[in-house]
Amino acid sequence: MGSGVAVGATCCSGRVKLTVLGKSPSWQDAGGACTSYLVTEGSTAVLVDFGSGALGKLRARLDYRDVDAIVISHFHADHLLDLIPLACALTYGPASQDGTTPPRLIAPRGSREFFAGLSAAIGDGDLLPNAFPLEEYEPSSRTEIGDIVVATHPVPHIGPTHAIELIAPAGGRVVFGADGPFSDELADAARGADVLLAEATLPDPEPGQCVHMSAAEAGRLARNAGVKRLVLTHISDELDLERSREIAAGEFGGEVEVAAEGAEYAV
Ligand SMILES: [Zn+2]
Ligand SMILES: [Zn+2]
Repeated sequence: MGSGVAVGATCCSGRVKLTVLGKSPSWQDAGGACTSYLVTEGSTAVLVDFGSGALGKLRARLDYRDVDAIVISHFHADHLLDLIPLACALTYGPASQDGTTPPRLIAPRGSREFFAGLSAAIGDGDLLPNAFPLEEYEPSSRTEIGDIVVATHPVPHIGPTHAIELIAPAGGRVVFGADGPFSDELADAARGADVLLAEATLPDPEPGQCVHMSAAEAGRLARNAGVKRLVLTHISDELDLERSREIAAGEFGGEVEVAAEGAEYAV
């Protein structure tokens, strides 16, 4: 923790609260942000991905000084670009003077080289490597952030990509599927989850692309995995969201929502 300001109360002991900061695909919704979720438990705050627009959404809810860790699913721009303005805030803003402890940056193997290259490309030397204590994770990994356990599971997509599983102290499980097509790997990672955040990027019927899912595929995957609740995400406001929800619900046979920025889930 940085300044020690209390994170907003969670609803029940041992549960985590998940807040959607950004649910857009690789381009933002009107007024929206790309992928990012805030997960809190007690005074612990974790960000899962930090796509463009997420810093402003975070700041509307929580001081960035109070973020303990940021977990990155894969190296695509829509999942990490706001690390740049956050690194600027930590490096050049008041936080650079007030003793703020920067958040742990927990990212896939190869991150050190990737973030150094990204910093060089924007002409700011070692901005990212210097701003965050970096921890590279192996494809299948498990780490603790406060009382929250974070596990990673490799899934097919473009480049190394990982579903992120968050396990609350009382045992509740949220699985964020990252990006990727319908796969046994994701179904295994999501098996029995309380909440599955599944991407539904493609319009139905899906056009045969194999790096993302449609709403129908997300629904089918949720059914195969036996999850309790499905939340469609990484989905553009330019699609008919109610139609996507209905298609997914038809395949899943259970409760389906489309992620909305600001929506909260207690698990
Ligand atoms: Zn994406
Ligand atoms: Zn991606």
